[in-house]
Amino acid sequence: RVVVGTKVDQNHVNWVTAYNMLTGIRFVVSRTNAKIDRELTDADFQAKHKFSFDITGNELTPSAKYDFKFKDYAPWVFRHLRSHFRLDPADYLVSLTSKYILSELGSPGKSGSFFYFSRDYKYIIKTIHHAEHKFLRKILRKYYDHVQANPNTLLSQFYGLHRVKIPYGRKIHFVVMNNLFPPHRDIHRTFDLKGSTIGRDFREEDLEKNPRATLKDLNWLRRNLHLEFGPDKKEAFIAQMQRDVELLKRLKIMDYSLLVGIHDLERGNEENLRDKTLQVFQPGGEKAQEPLPNVLMRTPSKLENARKAKELRLLIKNEKPIPIDQTLNKMPDEMLDQNKKEGYFYSDDGGFRATHEDNRPGEEIYYLGIIDCLTHYSLIKKMEHFWKGLNSTESQISAIPPERYGDRFVRFISGITKTRERAEIEKHQQLPS
Ligand code: ATP
Ligand code: CA
Ligand code: CA
Repeated sequence: RVVVGTKVDQNHVNWVTAYNMLTGIRFVVSRTNAKIDRELTDADFQAKHKFSFDITGNELTPSAKYDFKFKDYAPWVFRHLRSHFRLDPADYLVSLTSKYILSELGSPGKSGSFFYFSRDYKYIIKTIHHAEHKFLRKILRKYYDHVQANPNTLLSQFYGLHRVKIPYGRKIHFVVMNNLFPPHRDIHRTFDLKGSTIGRDFREEDLEKNPRATLKDLNWLRRNLHLEFGPDKKEAFIAQMQRDVELLKRLKIMDYSLLVGIHDLERGNEENLRDKTLQVFQPGGEKAQEPLPNVLMRTPSKLENARKAKELRLLIKNEKPIPIDQTLNKMPDEMLDQNKKEGYFYSDDGGFRATHEDNRPGEEIYYLGIIDCLTHYSLIKKMEHFWKGLNSTESQISAIPPERYGDRFVRFISGITKTRERAEIEKHQQLPS
């Protein structure tokens, strides 16, 4: 795989932090998993345990390379979550600790969070803001219940919540979660979609410098892309997304997005010849249709951008969501089949394969999920005030209430979920007035 991010080795500035994170995780996870499983209690959701590590070690903690403090939150809840998401306990430890090398994706977002990948790319460690940390603890029960009721949730899967502190350093909160993207497949294009227009355009001319950049809503529309799911997959996908967004609305969460990684089966792993043997999917001899447009786009004019923004607003306006109480009936049987190893949306080699209108398999595998879902409305409001205080012009942050944010999100994603056949038909149909 073309490595995204920089390797964190002994010479890296964040080596000590990364080392301590992994040492702490190894210790607390083995400690909890060594005990006999039991039912969760209310107290488990509030639980926190503090450990001190030093070079000599003591009766509680083994010796470590550096002095640091480590805090573990709700260990039993996360043990149950890991098991619910079908993680093998031994595997989890091996992935996160076999070698003290991770790769770091230094703060890809504006938030200042750091991302670290486990060596095998299965897991992501994301450092989070203290407010996000407090918020996750507060909603943990509701998140847990939701995940139990929705085995195929598209929401980020949280596997652990911890804090690390080196002497004289600041407290660093972090979560361990699923990497939506597979270790063994090239992702040819990545999109982060919210259904908003403000600040939702990655400068096309910067793609040249950074061909693996995460693109946004307007880039998606400019390429005229769709999440190409035939009727069955579309219904299941939208139904689950609506159920997940219902929770986010209830918890007053904002600013989340649908992360979409597209693997084009025709292109395969061209940039990753080493792993050719891992290509299990063949496009089945069917002649592929046009490959994903991967040509660089020219810089759009203001007018074109305005048109795209209008298109997006129309799309959101015209899309009618399915009433939430009907969505349960939309789940196909196989989706409710709990015997499957992975969730329904991750069952096509870790992703969800495109289908045609007749449900024939399509040419892409989508790797998708709802990410960045720990921002409470009040935090956005605070940020707004901050920006407003900074200069008196209109805020560039589109802080609409969580209810509307969620509706807009669902409508946008529903509107772009259609097969290429359906998109063709709709193009030639007149829009009902
Ligand atoms: P901001 O608040 O500015 O949006 P953030 O620091 O909260 O940024 P996220 O939005 O969570 O960061 O993620 C930033 C990028 O990191 C995503 O667009 C995506 O490319 C990558 N990323 C985040 N979570 C995952 C995940 N679970 N799997 C794969 N990639 C991810
Ligand atoms: Ca984000
Ligand atoms: Ca964020």
